[in-house]
Order: sequence, then C-alpha cells, then structure tokens
Amino acid sequence: MDDLTEKQLKSFGRSLKALHDELLMLLDISSESGDPVELDQTKVGRLSRMDAIQQQEMSHACRAGYQKRLKDVQRALLNIEQGGSGLCEYGWCQHCGDNIDIRRLEVKPESKFCVKCQESQEN
Ligand SMILES: [Zn+2]
Repeated sequence: MDDLTEKQLKSFGRSLKALHDELLMLLDISSESGDPVELDQTKVGRLSRMDAIQQQEMSHACRAGYQKRLKDVQRALLNIEQGGSGLCEYGWCQHCGDNIDIRRLEVKPESKFCVKCQESQEN
C-alpha cells in the first residue's frame, strides 16, 4: 500500500476533528452527571444507592475510555498537522513501522497500530 495522499490525510483530519469535538462534548456531559454518591444517602434506600454507585462507576469507566480516546485523537491530529516529520507520521504503525490499513483508519482514524500489532497487544 502506498502512502496516504494529501486528500486522504485531509479527510482523516476532518474525521479526527469531529471525533475530537464529540469526545469533548461527551466528557463535558459526563462530568456534569458525576455528582458524589454521598449526596443521595438521606433520600434513597440501600438498593438505589448501590445503583447510583454502579452508575457512577460506569460513568467513570466511560470517562476514562473517552479521555484515552481523546488523547489518541489529539496525537493523531498532531501527526497530521506535522505531516511527514519522521517517526510519528500519521498512518504508520508505532510498533512495527508498517503502514496501517486504510480501511482500519476509516473505522478508527486515531489508530496508532496496525491490525497485527493491535491484536498481539490485546492478547
Ligand atoms: Zn504494526
């Protein structure tokens, strides 16, 4: 596979920008709903309190996921802006240095590893 064309880079840049804004919005929303569970103690029974704690834990997990993704998106955007400056070039696997399949980038434009390296990391 050849290097990404300028046009492709621009289009990934646009997807990344949109993703960036979306993640910021999601993080904004989830921070507003992250009130301390203690506030509910007088109002709700034990079971609903467990619910609230579980919900909060879930929202924390989501936030961590969003934040991690946001970092990847920001890094990818930076790589595109720096365009072709050595090791961090967008679209190249940071592990093996191979280029990342464009179909993979279309699904997940912030990818920093090729499919092979991603899979071996997850296993
Ligand atoms: Zn790789």
